[in-house]
Amino acid sequence: MKINRHKLVPENSFENIIQDTTVNKGGYIEPSFIIIHFTAGQSAESSVSWFKNPAAGASAHLVIGRDGKIFQMIDFNRKAWHAGVSNWANLSGFNNFSIGIELDNPGRLERVGDRYVSWFKKEYPKENVVEARHKHESVMSYWYEYTGAQIDSCLEVCKVLIEKYKIEDILGHDDISPYRKSDPGPLFPMESFRAKLFGRKNDTAEIYEVVTNNVNIRRGPGTEFDSYGQLHKGVKVEFLKSSLGWFYVNVIDKPDKNIDVLTGWISGTLLRKKE
Ligand SMILES: [Zn+2]
Repeated sequence: MKINRHKLVPENSFENIIQDTTVNKGGYIEPSFIIIHFTAGQSAESSVSWFKNPAAGASAHLVIGRDGKIFQMIDFNRKAWHAGVSNWANLSGFNNFSIGIELDNPGRLERVGDRYVSWFKKEYPKENVVEARHKHESVMSYWYEYTGAQIDSCLEVCKVLIEKYKIEDILGHDDISPYRKSDPGPLFPMESFRAKLFGRKNDTAEIYEVVTNNVNIRRGPGTEFDSYGQLHKGVKVEFLKSSLGWFYVNVIDKPDKNIDVLTGWISGTLLRKKE
């Protein structure tokens, strides 16, 4: 994909980009930050429809579906209403200089017996739910995983944005509106995005290496879960969470063309911490 006149344009047939504009926007901006959100909604289409409603008073430049489809609602040089009250470092009012990307995701889930339910009372399959602690909270809660297609689309968009605009950093809504907002939450691989987009090494990221060949990366923490594929010895992964001796990780290297997944579960015995 590329950017032409502040709009995303597909360059390959598999890039699914739809222009679907909204009136919920402001004047011209020069974007210097990318802000990542989750929609806390039912579907990408329902979030797009909400952002088109003047009553919403909210919008974003992009909404990315779980299949990786990208909806562009606002040109990148116009203001979207995604950040609200926001402060980070010595900056405030992020709508004035940032691009907002919303990932379709229901947000924090509530556990009811052995079911996982969103705030809008929809039930989500257990195998895609991860228990994790938000960085601004002290207790664990339940989150719905992003898909590989969605994360890949998001990364590709961020790459072209950084080529086109003078982007200083990528942040979460929970970085610029901490305590008020929890998106994109603990399952978004922010540190590996930073590393890939800006080549930064972050001291807080815990990096592990796969210790042997043919290591399965699975949909859940156990051998009963399907494997997405196998990783080779030496592949580096970023630790996100652990459960019962299994690590939920984000694959940093992508050495194997058969694997398009970025996050999954690996047995902790098959990983070694990198110093
Ligand atoms: Zn948000």
